Amino acid sequence: MADTQPPFPSQGHLTAYLADHDVPCPACTYNLRGLTADRCPECNRELVLQIRLAEPRIGAWIAALAGAAAMLGFNGLLFLYFLAYMARGRRYGPPWPSVATLLVSTVIAAFGLAQLIKRRRAFGNLSAGARGTWAAGAWLTTAASAIAFFSFVDN
Ligand SMILES: [Zn+2]
Repeated sequence: MADTQPPFPSQGHLTAYLADHDVPCPACTYNLRGLTADRCPECNRELVLQIRLAEPRIGAWIAALAGAAAMLGFNGLLFLYFLAYMARGRRYGPPWPSVATLLVSTVIAAFGLAQLIKRRRAFGNLSAGARGTWAAGAWLTTAASAIAFFSFVDN
């Protein structure tokens, strides 16, 4: 959504700011002081002046995202592997509860990952404790799905 908004403030503010400030190009570190256009003269990348949050609060969001992505990746790949294994008619496949655990946890992980991406801004507005709880919950759910899978495999 932020990508579709026009750069703010206007480009006139960019050149006015750079008229008397030493600022390195974010791409090539060329000093942009005195720039009169909206492109870096060294690397030709377009530049904008932006207003950003001082503290983006994305640490817990990234931790939760990593937990959900780990669960989706590992469980999803294992599920596809065992599905292909059983489709080939192998006799000694994993017990069905372990494969069902992989399927359920893959669906949960995909849903959680989609919600985290969709609600990123709302996540950042939660309290620090709530953000940490969601991040820990993502990893605990991932660990619980692995424990459930291996407990069915061992029995
Ligand atoms: Zn540059």
